[in-house]
Amino acid sequence: TLPRLPIFEALAGHDPNSTVVVHSASGRKFTYGELLGDVVQGKERLLKEGGGKMDGERIAFLVENSYDYVVTLLSILGAHSIALPLSPAFPAHELQYIMDHSQASLLLSSKKFERKALEVMKENLQKTPKHIRLAKKMGGAASERVTLEGPTDGGAGMMLYTSGTTNRPKGVLLPQSVMTAQAQSLIKAWKYSPLDRLLHVLPLHHIHGTINAIFAPLFAGSTIEFLFPFNAQHVWHRFAAPFLQKPSTPAPSPITLFTVVPTVYNRLLTTFSDLTPEYQTAAKTAISPRNLRLNISGSAALPTPTKKAWNTLSSGNVLLERYGMTEVGMALSCGLPFSSRVDGSVGWPLPGVEVRLVDTDTGDVIKEGAELDSEGRERDGEIQLRGPTIFKEYWKNPVATKKEHVEGEDGKGRWFKTGDVAVRRIVPLPEQNGTINGHGEKWDRGPMYFIRGRLSADIIKSGGEKVSALEVERELLSLPQIAEAAVVAVPSGKWGQKVGAVVILKDNGEEGRKGKWGAMDLRRSLKDRLANYKIPQVMKVVDHIPRNAMGKINKKQLVKEVFQDETS
Ligand code: ATP
Ligand code: MG
Repeated sequence: TLPRLPIFEALAGHDPNSTVVVHSASGRKFTYGELLGDVVQGKERLLKEGGGKMDGERIAFLVENSYDYVVTLLSILGAHSIALPLSPAFPAHELQYIMDHSQASLLLSSKKFERKALEVMKENLQKTPKHIRLAKKMGGAASERVTLEGPTDGGAGMMLYTSGTTNRPKGVLLPQSVMTAQAQSLIKAWKYSPLDRLLHVLPLHHIHGTINAIFAPLFAGSTIEFLFPFNAQHVWHRFAAPFLQKPSTPAPSPITLFTVVPTVYNRLLTTFSDLTPEYQTAAKTAISPRNLRLNISGSAALPTPTKKAWNTLSSGNVLLERYGMTEVGMALSCGLPFSSRVDGSVGWPLPGVEVRLVDTDTGDVIKEGAELDSEGRERDGEIQLRGPTIFKEYWKNPVATKKEHVEGEDGKGRWFKTGDVAVRRIVPLPEQNGTINGHGEKWDRGPMYFIRGRLSADIIKSGGEKVSALEVERELLSLPQIAEAAVVAVPSGKWGQKVGAVVILKDNGEEGRKGKWGAMDLRRSLKDRLANYKIPQVMKVVDHIPRNAMGKINKKQLVKEVFQDETS
């Protein structure tokens, strides 16, 4: 038996013979029937380990992107416990911090990460929880009849640590009801279906991996295919496989859903020319709108040149940009009609998400219709969110929980302060635009949101003016000389902060003239595009801008490393 959680009700309702997970490398497949059988067994093993009761216990796990990962996650929910996925890429001492902080009572690992798990536990023997290999013999469990009984909620859920881009990682507690609401919101907006095959090439232990790539497809009865670690050649070959002149037998199914980060699209675009002509033709067919139903980008701002290049290569597919974070799942998204995927915009609040913008200087809510100030300038504000998809608390951190929330004046609950700044803009769209959500209403209407960046790192205050690093980055990236750019706040005695740019120059062709292109050229190129105070005062050319696996830049660290000698 399994508890009557919505996720298990959904799983029990799917065709048991349809494919739930595919391992791209080996072609191995698992069905929804097998999955339920394995989850029942996994859950029972966990309960045995815990002496029959594991309600609300944190259970950490180190498992590679695979069927076993899905079984482990669901088995933990089945035991009414809190699933705590760990990143195998983290060093042992960081994982130990998370183990300690979360007070996990068990560490599960797959065979592949057994040594790492033992290393994590060795670091602190006193507090060592138990380590077991749950994912020992998964796959191929006879699909037995699974009955659902017991409460529909309970202590089940998930705990994710934030990326730690701006601070020490915080443990975000996501009850299963929140996970369910997030998945259902995405299904309404993006129309996941049993016909979808999603290719997942990013780490799984983030909100994006868990909700967009596991929970939503599972609720909808789609197929998830894991190809990991990301390798551009392998991804291209997988896309192309069903469309080759002579595909292998049986030919793999076409990929219909691809949800990644801007750096992944960039890697794919720059490696396309390495493919043989046969693979190029097949790959183009694979990513055309006819086959790849939905290509999504998020986690960091999508550069317009990347969007344009993908559009050309795919014969018309348009990247859909969305905005999300660990605490809230996905919150804003452009719509299904191509015309709604406006450059630089992250669209509208997803179904069930309530959004407001709050002026960070005055604390005033920016009402709809009051997007411009008395001088006609756009007012930006912090994105605040509430609704059933939003987390409730940081684990063991009531101070942060309190600090990041603000009570609503309407008595309808508190708002979560995202720390991200945006503007709202009315964009004329074709009349027929609109995607019907689960309630028969269109959700992608009204003014659209444009992200300006993090309050803590991207909003630069220079001589009394506010500059959005993301806006400047956009302009830099539209210059033919620049391959990558990060705009940062450089401390300045005179201005408070000044705008600094860290760029990677293109080295191909006349435009790049690597090494010869400097701060003066940059100023000249941007003169007609940006107000004077927004143009970077200092620029450093580098060969590499460090990003994490989700394409995020740690700007505090970058400023320290690159501009440490800047004083004025
Ligand atoms: P920490 O909170 O520990 O500093 P983090 O905020 O990087 O880590 P995540 O929750 O993974 O951890 O990232 C969420 C952040 O990613 C958002 O707050 C936002 O700044 C950024 N982000 C997400 N989507 C977009 C997007 N489409 N455009 C620009 N920024 C985005
Ligand atoms: Mg954050």
